[in-house]
Amino acid sequence: MSQLDVRQKLEILADAAKYDASCASSGTVKRDSSKGKGIGSTEGMGICHAYAPDGRCISLLKILLTNSCIFDCHYCINRKSSNVRRARFTAREVVDLTLAFYRRNYIEGLFLSSGIIRSSDYTMEQIVEVARALREDHDFRGYIHLKTIPDADPELIHQAGRHADRVSINVELPTERGLKRLAPEKSGARIEGAMAGLRAAIADTADARGRYRHAPDFAPAGQSTQMIVGADAATDGDIVMRANSLYDRFALRRVYYSAFSPIPDASAVLPLSRPPLMREHRLYQSDWLIRFYGFAAEEVVAAADGETGMLPLDIDPKLAWALKHRDRFPVDINRAPRAMLLRIPGLGVKAVDAILTARRWRRLGLADLARLTSSVARLRPFLIAEDWRPVALSDAADIRPLVAPRRRQQLELFGA
Ligand code: SF4
Repeated sequence: MSQLDVRQKLEILADAAKYDASCASSGTVKRDSSKGKGIGSTEGMGICHAYAPDGRCISLLKILLTNSCIFDCHYCINRKSSNVRRARFTAREVVDLTLAFYRRNYIEGLFLSSGIIRSSDYTMEQIVEVARALREDHDFRGYIHLKTIPDADPELIHQAGRHADRVSINVELPTERGLKRLAPEKSGARIEGAMAGLRAAIADTADARGRYRHAPDFAPAGQSTQMIVGADAATDGDIVMRANSLYDRFALRRVYYSAFSPIPDASAVLPLSRPPLMREHRLYQSDWLIRFYGFAAEEVVAAADGETGMLPLDIDPKLAWALKHRDRFPVDINRAPRAMLLRIPGLGVKAVDAILTARRWRRLGLADLARLTSSVARLRPFLIAEDWRPVALSDAADIRPLVAPRRRQQLELFGA
């Protein structure tokens, strides 16, 4: 490991970090260096948000401190028994790389995670040192997201929150059963205990800053977590309910999903093939329905197949819910409350708000809707407009073929 230069380490440790999906840089406070103070910004000119074709954010320097680990989680390519090339950055190397990438305008911040070396506390100390040096020694004002280690001393996790915009702890598997089977050295209770500690610290800080302007910040972009999808037997229903419970109990900003990707020399307890990437996408759509469309988690679960507990892959969960609740449609776009307009498949939040504004002045017809959505034909069975009432369509036994989008080829998660 010691003969590797920084470039080689970067190659290994950036590649090893790609399995972590939780890198979106949203929701933090405004900091900038445009007046000549400090370096870096969380917004403004010259900062580009780039996304890979699969939707992952790539505008952060996203690396591991090391891909060595004393744990042996079955699903992880960096586990102790894995036969991968190992590398390790020093804290100083990560600081220098972040500053160099930032000055070249390649990135807007840092996403730092790590395998566990020596002990959870030692690893956490190294992670905290990177963030401390960036903030205190270099006045770095860009975005920092730190993965924290649930078993580490709470004081170290607290220090991470002092320097980072966002902190996260991966719950890893949707069920305790899955965690015990695939990551036996991890404890669901310890993970949730650490998340509860972060929630309390974030809430205390928000309270203190409401009263004292100069109270120190703590993870202003909140905490998030990630679940691996498809490595265990958890259904989409299990996953949606678990995510919902995490949002409620720990005030998470985001739950990220990462479709399990088979790894070299995989353990026999893992599935042989990856789940369809569309499964991850449908779970993100479910997450969106709960956070922005007023759906209860139970309603999203009701859209899943009653026997398998899985959401359909060929249609989105909102359409699946609508097809199972035909009695709630058609919805009159000129009279229905916002909550019901949001239930119409194919109508997004912006389109619904535009309808609410426009209908104050006149009654809306299909031509008005056509200006707000990409396919009014698919919406028609679900709505009533000034010039449209879908009598025959809403009585039809099976309207699914009329409203389901045509099938597209499934993309590979890390395909070449
Ligand atoms: S602790 Fe993290 S890095 Fe180590 S094997 Fe488990 S998932 Fe991988």
